[in-house]
Amino acid sequence: MKKHERAAVVLERLNAHYPEPPIPLDHSDPFTLLIAVLLSAQCTDKKVNEVTPALFAAGPTPEAMAALNENEILSHIRQLGLAKTKSKNVHKLAHILVNVHAGQVPASFEELEALPGVGHKTASVVMAQAFGVPAFPVDTHIHRLAQRWGLSSGESVATTEKDLKKLFPKDSWNKLHLQIIFYGREYCTARGCDGTVCPLCRELYPRRRKPVEWKKA
Ligand code: SF4
Repeated sequence: MKKHERAAVVLERLNAHYPEPPIPLDHSDPFTLLIAVLLSAQCTDKKVNEVTPALFAAGPTPEAMAALNENEILSHIRQLGLAKTKSKNVHKLAHILVNVHAGQVPASFEELEALPGVGHKTASVVMAQAFGVPAFPVDTHIHRLAQRWGLSSGESVATTEKDLKKLFPKDSWNKLHLQIIFYGREYCTARGCDGTVCPLCRELYPRRRKPVEWKKA
């Protein structure tokens, strides 16, 4: 099976399996989504969803968040990894939104990536989920699965993003990135795998017998 044929099979099977994947991070608007994604670095979405209700009650808007000091922000997110750095970034970011962007989350990759604590992946999630702009945020799950399904060499997350964007129609990207994340969490975890346990891989690689090697992000 050729690469584009494998991509078509993956798309069809994931659409059938996860027809309407929910957005895993709780939020109510672009600002709360941006903060939740920033907080999710090196931590589970579940953990982030546990702390954001109190944080967003204290700072529901960029103006209200900017009025909190770093320690107040830290007190709400203390249980998360990298809490100190994250509270610094949230504090600075809220001030920039108020002072530079009229209290709005900017809808461009360039402006988002210029914000503290916001890299290309975070910006891509916000562009996709808050503004509906096609993007393909690649996290460790997507990076791993793209290699196991033979859709990317996995040289880097940037390569994986480029490869996946070439293989899948643009209007599928925003939903597909969630579908792959859910599949990775549910079935194709980071644990070792011989590449034959799932019907999907048996369909993609009927003659596969060896464990699948993959490079970490
Ligand atoms: S067989 Fe292994 S590599 Fe393939 S989808 Fe299942 S867990 Fe992932």
